[in-house]
Amino acid sequence: MISIPMKESKKIPGEKPARSMNFIEEIIKEDIRNGKNDGRVHTRFPPEPNGYLHIGHAKSICLNFGLGEKYRGKTNLRFDDTNPIKEEVEYVDSIMEDVKWLGFDWEDRLFYASDYFEQLYEYAVILIQKGKAYVCDMPADEISATRGTPNRPGKDSPYRDRSVEENLDLFIRMRSGEFPDGARVLRAKIDMTSPNMHMRDPVIYRILHASHHRTGDTWCIYPMYDFAHGQSDSIEGITHSICTLEFEVHRPLYDWLIREIGIYAPRQIEFARLNLNYTVMSKRKLLELVQEGKVTGWDDPRMPTISGLRRRGYTPESIRNFAEIIGVAKRDNVIDVSLLEFCIREDLNKRADRVMGVLNPVKVVIDNFPEDRVEEMEAMNNPEDPARSTRKVPFSRELYIEREDFMEDPPRKFFRMTPGREVRLRSAYIVKCESVEKDPKSGQITVIHCTYDPMTRSGMPDSNRKVKGTLHWVSARHAIESKVRLYDRLFSVPDPDNAEEGKTFKDYLNPDSLNVVKGYLEPSIREAQAGDTFQFERKGYFIVDKDSRSDALVFNRVVALRDSWAKTGHQK
Ligand code: ATP
Ligand code: MG
Repeated sequence: MISIPMKESKKIPGEKPARSMNFIEEIIKEDIRNGKNDGRVHTRFPPEPNGYLHIGHAKSICLNFGLGEKYRGKTNLRFDDTNPIKEEVEYVDSIMEDVKWLGFDWEDRLFYASDYFEQLYEYAVILIQKGKAYVCDMPADEISATRGTPNRPGKDSPYRDRSVEENLDLFIRMRSGEFPDGARVLRAKIDMTSPNMHMRDPVIYRILHASHHRTGDTWCIYPMYDFAHGQSDSIEGITHSICTLEFEVHRPLYDWLIREIGIYAPRQIEFARLNLNYTVMSKRKLLELVQEGKVTGWDDPRMPTISGLRRRGYTPESIRNFAEIIGVAKRDNVIDVSLLEFCIREDLNKRADRVMGVLNPVKVVIDNFPEDRVEEMEAMNNPEDPARSTRKVPFSRELYIEREDFMEDPPRKFFRMTPGREVRLRSAYIVKCESVEKDPKSGQITVIHCTYDPMTRSGMPDSNRKVKGTLHWVSARHAIESKVRLYDRLFSVPDPDNAEEGKTFKDYLNPDSLNVVKGYLEPSIREAQAGDTFQFERKGYFIVDKDSRSDALVFNRVVALRDSWAKTGHQK
């Protein structure tokens, strides 16, 4: 048989390349084809409310809700709230806000594992009645000491052969609060010699006299994660329970518990968690940074949290696109943070209006421009989208340009301002540097004197005259002073988790991750509102921070225009 290659269809500009199906979609399609679960697709996102969500969670949210959307199924938001000690309402609220902000909707399917505590208790009773669970009186350290190692089998607990009646009696009394924390646990009775450590009679209930953020003091025994998670999936009719790779070794237990209790069996599928370089992603470590004041809070714009990224100026679309591009892997890998930065640049390039702002000013005086004259220059708001029209930018005799855009004695390929050579001021005139004034003590340049060519502004005969460099500028008299926070990576090494001996991840914090400067911005910025994003020409993308007041704007740099980290160790 001759196979005829299909003609490649022409790519429509701006169209996203069709992504091939990932292995989870293959599984789901196969299940649908086989009529499993009547073709139903039902996923869930199950955060533990013990911290704010980070970009790794965003990946999981996009995956779970994305599959729900793609296969016309449903996705639940379920709080895995089985640990009353570390969980707080603040986290629950922030998680809901983040999922919504990313653009996903759980509709009426907001659940809490704690809603199932009574049901889970009954499941435990079923296991006891079947002789598949027992109350063990060994303290925690003895339980772990008798678990063995991966190469050495564990030892049976002396309480393993308690009668069903005794187990039931003790479990009821555990619930009623008769015993102190840690006095007894309920363990599944599986196999102390199993090569899988998770199958060696795992603890499924513990005593904890602690108030729960939802159930208050109703309970003093709490199910362990492994006992709550799969059973909650089952209660909700989840068809595909998608989790990260570290749970692969828990899967036999997941399946065992469901089988022994005798309830509906969801299918657990594991994928590789998202790791990003130059950051840490564990909630515990992020909490440490917050508690020790290494950052200003969970939403510090340097944090990899969703709230931090939002405040930094990331858009939901850029994060969803990032999740799409990285895809779903079966093996652990590390994604370069510059890919995330690429995604936000690409998005803001279309979205953000251009303005001019000078962050490290030096004064320019146009000697042949009349002192009291102000001309309005017409500037494009967004060259990517001419429909966004133009704005007026005032031009006067005294301007600011960036100090680094001038060199008295430049190397060969320097095409910015230098004595005797012409440059274009963006949307305005061609000017030529004639002389400079310097501070006699420091030698620092204080004023650059230029002349302008009146024939070179838009509408004049020489408006199209080409010169090599184009600089941004702002009229000194009209400039709006604002606070500009230049953010950089929070860590100065790619893998802060991998600290050398005697150090911790915190020893690798980047001392230059925040640099606050004064910006001089064109007056059109005056009306900007918190959350608005702009491209400061040649300087990067910026967002108006919530700390702004109408008379004192604060900007955060989202990202520089180019990624120069690899070469210079910082953003340009
Ligand atoms: P952390 O390790 O940051 O403390 P966690 O796994 O304990 O996170 P959970 O609240 O249990 O946090 O996570 C909720 C869901 O998000 C889980 O299904 C988990 O597998 C998924 N998830 C967590 N971190 C990542 C990640 N880096 N990449 C992809 N998915 C993740
Ligand atoms: Mg977890």
